[in-house]
Amino acid sequence: MFSPRKVAVLGATGSVGKSGVEVIAGSHGRLAATVLTAHSRFELLVEQAQRLLPKVVVATDRKAADAFNWKGLPKNVELVTGSDGLLQAVRSEHVDVVLAGIVGSAGLRSVLAALEAGKTVALANKETLVSAGPLVSKLLATSPGKLLPVDSEHSALFQAMQCGQREEIARVILTASGGPFRTWPLEQLRQVTVDEALAHPTWDMGPKITIDSATMMNKALEIIEARWLFDLPAEKIDVMIHPQSIVHSLVEFIDGSIIAQMSPPDMRLPIQYALEYPHRQPGVSDRLDWKKAFRLEFEPPDRQRFPAIALGFDCARAGGTSGAVLNAANEAAVQAFLEGELHFTEIVPACRSILEAHPFESAPTLERLLELDAWARQEVHSWVCA
Ligand code: NDP
Ligand code: MG
Repeated sequence: MFSPRKVAVLGATGSVGKSGVEVIAGSHGRLAATVLTAHSRFELLVEQAQRLLPKVVVATDRKAADAFNWKGLPKNVELVTGSDGLLQAVRSEHVDVVLAGIVGSAGLRSVLAALEAGKTVALANKETLVSAGPLVSKLLATSPGKLLPVDSEHSALFQAMQCGQREEIARVILTASGGPFRTWPLEQLRQVTVDEALAHPTWDMGPKITIDSATMMNKALEIIEARWLFDLPAEKIDVMIHPQSIVHSLVEFIDGSIIAQMSPPDMRLPIQYALEYPHRQPGVSDRLDWKKAFRLEFEPPDRQRFPAIALGFDCARAGGTSGAVLNAANEAAVQAFLEGELHFTEIVPACRSILEAHPFESAPTLERLLELDAWARQEVHSWVCA
């Protein structure tokens, strides 16, 4: 008998999570949301639960959950709280696929738990691979868990790679919109306001990744993500600015053929591809309108304007503890910028100086990565207070 694929949507109230909910609701019963999680937006979580009737909802902020009135939650939906509740839910028999849509390194433990439990993880939370790439790779080699990319660039690479053999890949080219400041005079960047940085030209995303796109730290994180996801050396990874965000990335093979994946900038497509993999289905995402003329432009990134890119390559080369330190420093620096405590142009220099100061280790344990994550956040705090 046909049974739907059971999906846990982690971070269901966020940008990726809401798109995931739409993909599941539009799947004609092929996908079922069995677990939905939220950290603070519980009213939306309750509305989603009323619509999708999952088995379990998880409220990760336990204190906020205790203060919330859950009377709208449908009777048969179980409520669990806290980060241990989250781990328990992803490991449960109600779950085949985990859509990892929690933002930041807060999403790390749930991804590791899902992989350990043999689940398929549809990974939006790139910070997991950036911080703990070596540990995730080790886990994938020894557990039945699988990782499928949701980040649009990595989904594009994953699809394009299917046109050749691994050893036939000459390089991969990650595309980047260039964000809102691609053409601004350099001297104006210091004065960038939070609202200006949050106005992304092509993608509608959560605040953290939107700021990362403006600094191009997002591309730095994606270089590191590609390094671990596809086991590629940094030398085989390139970045090109593509302002239209229609070509999501490209693979160049050794014969010179280049295979690209194209679609409008709409996360519902890479989410659907990962949730339905290996099948393609008609879905809910936007389609290109071939009745209209359109242009596709590409240019190499200006490394002076976007110093984050060099950091991404440095960390992809170094591995070890460097990704965890870069990621945590960046999360804290972005938070400080959003709170008006750091200039836009200080985000990347703060990350660089913390990365350079950190006691590098080539084969860290998870505990050590978490210690350095906390240390890097504290260093940003000292930078802000200096
Ligand atoms: P959002 O800020 O929109 O959503 C984040 C989600 O995580 C929310 O559901 C939030 O809950 C939850 N959350 C926040 N903090 C915690 C915590 N400490 N513990 C548990 N849950 C928490 O982010 P996005 O959806 O934009 O991004 C999610 C991830 O996907 C990021 O890693 C991002 O890099 C990646 N990604 C996003 C893309 C996009 O288009 N948005 C594209 C490619 C990758 P609540 O809202 O209830 O507080
Ligand atoms: Mg991306």
